[in-house]
Amino acid sequence: MEHRAQVRIDGAAIAFNIALLKEMSSVDLLAVVKADAYGHGLIETGLIAQKNGANWLGVALLEEAIALRTKGVQTPILAWLLPPGSDFRAACQHDIDVAVACIAAFNEISALKSRARIHIELDTGMTRGGFLDEWSEFLTLDFSQVEVVGVFSHFARADEPSEKQNIDQLNRFNVMISDLAAIGIHPPIQHISNSAATLKNHAAAFTMVRTGIAMYGLTPDIKTLGDSPSLGLKPAMQLRAKLHLVKKVTAGSPVGYGATAITQVDTTLGVVAMGYADGIPRIAQGVGVFINGARAPIIGRVSMDQFVVDLGAESTAQSGDWVVVFGDGFRGEYTADDWARASSSINYEIVTRIGPRVPRIYAPHVY
Ligand SMILES: *Cc1c(COP(=O)(O)O)cnc(C)c1O
Repeated sequence: MEHRAQVRIDGAAIAFNIALLKEMSSVDLLAVVKADAYGHGLIETGLIAQKNGANWLGVALLEEAIALRTKGVQTPILAWLLPPGSDFRAACQHDIDVAVACIAAFNEISALKSRARIHIELDTGMTRGGFLDEWSEFLTLDFSQVEVVGVFSHFARADEPSEKQNIDQLNRFNVMISDLAAIGIHPPIQHISNSAATLKNHAAAFTMVRTGIAMYGLTPDIKTLGDSPSLGLKPAMQLRAKLHLVKKVTAGSPVGYGATAITQVDTTLGVVAMGYADGIPRIAQGVGVFINGARAPIIGRVSMDQFVVDLGAESTAQSGDWVVVFGDGFRGEYTADDWARASSSINYEIVTRIGPRVPRIYAPHVY
């Protein structure tokens, strides 16, 4: 079936980014594929990562981990968002390592018949996941019924490498690892670095890094760390859509709901077959699409399934032509970062929010 919109994922770009990040950190790499691999497709991306050097896969949800196992992923998998009451038995059955961040979950895991593989999550200063107030009590528990494979934490400000909080969190991480050593627990795998830390804080690599956004070729923070090309990364995702309709209009035509825009001159408009139901931010302004080597900005409000762009009076675009909504930017097209800026968001949100009704195609980008 011919699509009206598609996400194209360049597996070679993901492989390139994994190789770059592994070379930078010189330790094992856990490929973060939560949230449908940041919109890139959980299973396909997991398989691409597995084939191209990822030592581990990481997800938030147990369902995500089980889906990967069911589709034949054999790489070790860590799932880190399992509250008490989760199906820890299923995790064991599918050979999935689980993060433990509270005593209630630890007790449920210890009570299983099989010995679960756990990674102890530490709150070293982000004040989100991980042990904090329960830590001293946790250290008194019986660890004989579990296999402690790893210990990990997460940086709150790795995208601001000179912030003191990074040093404080690293110090706290080391102290808590010593607390475990003091009771005879020596987790072989220690990890705290996300993409930003992997790129900018090599001293924090420990035995493994957990990279999400950079593996997809996107910068963790364009303001503090620079854009993808400056970091040597290749954006893997291109979003394209078809022009449902191209029409000539006269100056003074009100465009879209609320008539928030009015054409200033005679021009050609293109109706793009995507909208906020597909993840196009409704508030985005100042971005648009790329066609025939030129940018065409959004005019008027984004609707549920469509938005309108100003192609310019001289445009030769036809109804049914493909346009690039965003890509790697190397030819002048808009990027996920451009869309993020235009909607007061971040590239993470732009790629993860692309809806399930947009098919993912695993092939090189096209123009
Ligand atoms: C999402 C997530 C990551 C990946 O973060 P990036 O900034 O995308 O590299 C790493 N670790 C944990 C615990 C996460 O939740």
